[in-house]
Amino acid sequence: MSLSCPFCHSTEVMLVDASTQQSNTTLSSLVTPTTLGALGTTVAKSFNLPPIIGGIAGTVIGSVLNSFTETSAPPPQNLCFCHNCYQKFPTHLLH
Ligand SMILES: [Zn+2]
Repeated sequence: MSLSCPFCHSTEVMLVDASTQQSNTTLSSLVTPTTLGALGTTVAKSFNLPPIIGGIAGTVIGSVLNSFTETSAPPPQNLCFCHNCYQKFPTHLLH
């Protein structure tokens, strides 16, 4: 496999380790069952509901959202970065 950019055919191509990509971690670290549980408790208080109801609802919603973001996350793949045209592309485009 020769490293040459499929866009500009430059050889200034660098492999990028996909495990260092931080695409989905921000969302899933924000949307945790704990966070939503606390949020649900706050919402329940403002509606004069027992806080435990909001806490449970928030935790359930958080778990559902979490499993959704996990399953919808794309499989990790190695990316290449071209230093000439600044394009990122999967390694299978290399030829
Ligand atoms: Zn390029």
